[in-house]
Amino acid sequence: MLLSGKTALVLGIANRWSIAYAISAAYVREGAKLILTYQSERQKATVEDLSAELKAFKVLPCDVTKPEELDSLVSQLRIDAGRIDACVHSIAFANREDLSRPFLETSRDGFLLAQEVSAYSLVAVARAIAPLMPDGGSIQTLTYLGSTRVVTNYNVMGVAKASLEASMRYLASELGSKNIRVNAISAGPIKTASARAVKDLTKMLDAFAEHAPLRRNTDPAEVADTSVFLASDLGRGVTGNVIFVDAGFQIMGLA
Ligand code: NDP
Repeated sequence: MLLSGKTALVLGIANRWSIAYAISAAYVREGAKLILTYQSERQKATVEDLSAELKAFKVLPCDVTKPEELDSLVSQLRIDAGRIDACVHSIAFANREDLSRPFLETSRDGFLLAQEVSAYSLVAVARAIAPLMPDGGSIQTLTYLGSTRVVTNYNVMGVAKASLEASMRYLASELGSKNIRVNAISAGPIKTASARAVKDLTKMLDAFAEHAPLRRNTDPAEVADTSVFLASDLGRGVTGNVIFVDAGFQIMGLA
């Protein structure tokens, strides 16, 4: 029960294949009081069903691109929970065509959209949630190797992840004096709704399993356990890091 007595806010559950779902299940297993969010009315019923299954404490709306929704989320959290100990940002979006055509063809709007939803939103969420962490806490985001290496078709999302990781470091530096730790978990490819938008995902998964030192794909439960570590007191000395949970793939050069 590593998270007993802690309250955790998890943003980014779409369905039971979401990485955020695995993280939420692990948090509940470890005794956390869980609060989930959904993006819009379209996802409300699904997230409410998953929340009931997970025995979450609360489900609240929040589209992270809308400042007024972040403000209402914080006001509601103040009433319902008072304090947040861990916050997981598991959110990304890019236009499907920008994850298949050449990167050179990326439109200005597509570039800015990916940056807004997938990178800037971490800054907005951290600014909103930090005041609810008076004694410190853990803020986490999910990233991918395409931030620093060229991964075919990951394109505009790779650039957004680079921005996300840099944002994570600046936030870690500024929030450290408040004992708020900010980290990113870099997961290996996992078949989720978002990942399916990347052209040739199956090829990517096969190549990954062949070349990763552990010779297999990444299990969302492994990502979730690392998230538990970061949210727990065991992670108290860790901030500003990108922690790879990818069966070791990122160490490989020519395989
Ligand atoms: P999911 O599609 O399950 O999760 C993505 C989530 O982002 C969805 O819940 C989606 O909500 C939400 N989202 C998108 N736009 C907004 C918004 N404006 N406001 C609030 N929520 C929004 O995919 P994953 O679990 O794979 O993705 C979670 C994170 O993990 C992402 O950051 C992704 O880049 C990262 N990641 C994924 C990897 C993978 O291979 N799957 C590998 C490494 C990192 P909705 O569905 O309602 O639009």
